[in-house]
Amino acid sequence: MLTGIDRLMQSSCEREKKEKICRSRGGESCAFDGAMIVLQPIADTAHIVHGPISCCGNSWEGRGTLSSKGRLHRMGFTTDMTEMDIIYGSENKLYDAILRAYESVRPKAIFVHATCVSGLIGEDIEAVCKKAETFLGIRVIPVNAPGFVGPKNLGNRIAGEVLLDYVIGTGEPPFTTDYDINLIGEYNIAGDLWLVEPLLKEAGVRILSKITGDSTFEEITYAHRAKLNVVVCSRALINIAREMERRYGIPYIEVSFFGKTEMLQALRLIALNFKSQISNLKLADKIEEIIMREEKKLDEKLKAYKHLKGKKAVLYTGGVKSWSFISALMDLGIEIVAIGTKKSTFEDEEKMKEILGEDAPLVEDVTPKNLLRLIKERNADILIAGGRNQYLAIKEGFPFVDVNQERHIPYAGYDGLINFAEQISNSMRFFQESGDRSQKTEIRKKESLKIINHKSEITINPLKHSQSIGAAIAFQGIDRALPIIHGAQGCSFLAKVLLTKHFREPIALASTKLFTEDVVMGSEENIIKVVQEIVERNNPDVIGILTSGLTEVKGDDVTSAMKDLRFKIKDSKCQIVHISTPDYEGGLETGYAKAVEAVIKFIVHSPQSAVNKKTIDCFINVLVGSHLTPADFTELREIVESFGLKPIILPDLSALDGSRKGFSALAIGGTTTEEIRAMGSSDFTIAIGASMESAAMILKERFGIEYRVFESISGLKDADMFMETLSMLSGKPIAKKYERQRRILIDGMRDAHFYYGNKKIYVALEPDLTVQTMHWLDEMGAVVEIVDVNSNDLFSIQGHFDLLISNSHAEDTAKRLGVPLYQMGFPVYKVLGNNHKVTIGYSGTLSLINEVANKLLEVHQ
Ligand code: SF4
Repeated sequence: MLTGIDRLMQSSCEREKKEKICRSRGGESCAFDGAMIVLQPIADTAHIVHGPISCCGNSWEGRGTLSSKGRLHRMGFTTDMTEMDIIYGSENKLYDAILRAYESVRPKAIFVHATCVSGLIGEDIEAVCKKAETFLGIRVIPVNAPGFVGPKNLGNRIAGEVLLDYVIGTGEPPFTTDYDINLIGEYNIAGDLWLVEPLLKEAGVRILSKITGDSTFEEITYAHRAKLNVVVCSRALINIAREMERRYGIPYIEVSFFGKTEMLQALRLIALNFKSQISNLKLADKIEEIIMREEKKLDEKLKAYKHLKGKKAVLYTGGVKSWSFISALMDLGIEIVAIGTKKSTFEDEEKMKEILGEDAPLVEDVTPKNLLRLIKERNADILIAGGRNQYLAIKEGFPFVDVNQERHIPYAGYDGLINFAEQISNSMRFFQESGDRSQKTEIRKKESLKIINHKSEITINPLKHSQSIGAAIAFQGIDRALPIIHGAQGCSFLAKVLLTKHFREPIALASTKLFTEDVVMGSEENIIKVVQEIVERNNPDVIGILTSGLTEVKGDDVTSAMKDLRFKIKDSKCQIVHISTPDYEGGLETGYAKAVEAVIKFIVHSPQSAVNKKTIDCFINVLVGSHLTPADFTELREIVESFGLKPIILPDLSALDGSRKGFSALAIGGTTTEEIRAMGSSDFTIAIGASMESAAMILKERFGIEYRVFESISGLKDADMFMETLSMLSGKPIAKKYERQRRILIDGMRDAHFYYGNKKIYVALEPDLTVQTMHWLDEMGAVVEIVDVNSNDLFSIQGHFDLLISNSHAEDTAKRLGVPLYQMGFPVYKVLGNNHKVTIGYSGTLSLINEVANKLLEVHQ
């Protein structure tokens, strides 16, 4: 019997440019993510990700799809596989997880997604789903699209096959009309659908099933009763339309709702199709009436944007077809000077040529370097692309508009075009007002404590993040470094998206991009090939090889590959550091700490060979955990230097505070390799955060450097302790500036303590940040409850308290519990300014105290 994947390989992959659908190695996500993008918008179903933490942890809540039918699409469910699950198998755990998910949220159906690790160890998710389905009496559907089988596009299509095989045709609608259509490939990103559906309804066309934006599971079961399939924009789900035509005789058309021209064509095509089927002219007349009215309104509103005429754009879209945005840009009179086609299908390219002619400026090379070159050489006024490229443009001072699935503004329909014009105009105006381009370059240039633990077989809305994401963060604070995740491409893609959202900066992160054949045949060669290419192209000072669950489970001999590699690049000054970061153990903080330890082990030299330093200077190593903000690093340096000490801060994440100039594939700024080498000659080591103690111990064991660990440097007592230690080390008194800040802090604490007394505050943060936060909250008199983020989730947080302190993912949890949320930790992307916030020392503590007090006040207002 042919499986869905077989069908895809036979049809799409042979027919089209095979590389485009099945083997794209461009900066794309993996098949697992592609399948989730298609299926997760069904908002009354649960999606259990069967694998270690990174697949779900890096991606849940990351997609911009909206729904009026439920909130399950905003939740993440994972079995969070551990090493024991991998050794002994975790089919029983998966079964229990399915039952628990059902009990917890009563979904209409459950989809179970395989990932690289569960796929590699051969978990029989089909059998588990079948058993659970029999027990629960609801559909439990396996989705076999582990990341290594291919890129996102392939995952989209596998999800289409899943809907065909398990869902479509299994139900009946309450009634049908002569004008029932299905919308296929419309995910209701930012509410796109809601700008189109009312017009169709007004014309008398009913959307029977939406596949899948703003849909219910039930409506997809009866999609086979529609009279017409309308495939929207993305060709990702064309396989559904083709197969439904074959099985149910439903014709299909392909349309786009982006832009005036495409809207007109789409509405007329729908009318034409019904006209030819049932000879009804009324629908066509009604559609013409709507088009005329809407275009008139649109033309009037677009007058405000006539300054966009003649502007030039570089366009590089991801999941959405470039051609639909070409048309929308042309409606606004904007010239397209380059179109990235890395993620476009063969047919997309044909369509682009149809619109722009044979000379359409198609460009296959969309590496950041080339995109920047295109913007500059072709004198473009704006880059229109996916959110991942946002900071590439912004850093170089170019306007940017996000058109991918992470966006928050709807662009479909007539009103969507106005939104699109407004965004382009706003972005251009902002950069114009910042002066000319050269100027812009400059601008850019105890008792109160209770620990909660609710571990169960399923993790719903995880708090935990993978070790590799933690290690990747550490490398962002090392000058000219590049971390590479050794695994399938989804891991680095999803991690990069999340890190970019949090830091609002370009993130240096690469992947060895493994596919099925690499998994089967061995993939050590991939490391060598990828590193050699990077050394040749980017000449980094440090490369970190971070392993993934996939490569650890399949037992890659990374150590031998490293030996081979070091020999092959012996003429380069690049240092290669190997860190074992499987996502079935540890979490963000352990991955970060391992990276710091490995960098010390591999790079720090013995004192004899370290660079000379002036003997009168007192050099101290400052090892800083993952819990400080980029602005904290600058504050920390200032504090240490105020005592006349010379700090070598490792890593130095101040590089991510927005001060970096230009774009680079490497992490620019931060600790230099020269400084790291010299750490063996320092006089003392300070470790900020308990997770940094092991790294400090390595320096002590190898070079005899004494150290002291500070669990916290926020709060009055902890900041005092820190200052006193620095004073002792330097033999200098605390600077007047800090004495003054201390007095102000005490005064601020007195003012604010009324709001904290006996307030119950729930803290769900990474361990080091939890301890630091807990210390100053305790000083303020609050009652603190903490949760271990590595073994608990947001869903299990219950009870009555006054404030939740956690990351941005906790927004829905806070709403559910009816408490305010103070966002901190990782990731924070729903409030601005997190990276510029100082949270340490006297003044940082005072800011925190006031901000949190204001949140507590919200409850009483
Ligand atoms: S590539 Fe990474 S994110 Fe994608 S399924 Fe594999 S492990 Fe998960």
